[in-house]
Amino acid sequence: MKENNLCLNSGCEALCCKNKYMFYQGKVEDSFPRAIQVSYESLSDCKQPGVFYTKFRDSFLVKIVDKCPNLGGDYGCNIQEVKPEACKNFKINSDDCKKERKPKKSRL
Ligand code: SF4
Ligand code: SF4
Repeated sequence: MKENNLCLNSGCEALCCKNKYMFYQGKVEDSFPRAIQVSYESLSDCKQPGVFYTKFRDSFLVKIVDKCPNLGGDYGCNIQEVKPEACKNFKINSDDCKKERKPKKSRL
């Protein structure tokens, strides 16, 4: 049976899965196999579509430029079994969700 996508039903086409930063514990490649590791200083210069990451304190800082490669054509996440904690904790209608849905300039 097709998943009932509450976000899509509310008119949001996965805005929180595009152009974002997130912290990541563990092996970044588990969730983003094609992610490219860069230095902390050069992370802000990564502007082409893709996933980039750098060591940051005791975890990693991941930057997704454009659409997350794990986003399915139906706006669902294709990696439920290895979905990043940051994504699992991102709840619809939370303050972060509301911020994503406000018209904004690119933060990347
Ligand atoms: S959590 Fe919020 S921003 Fe993310 S897809 Fe759902 S409605 Fe959109
Ligand atoms: S991993 Fe899944 S939930 Fe997280 S940003 Fe990518 S598509 Fe969205």
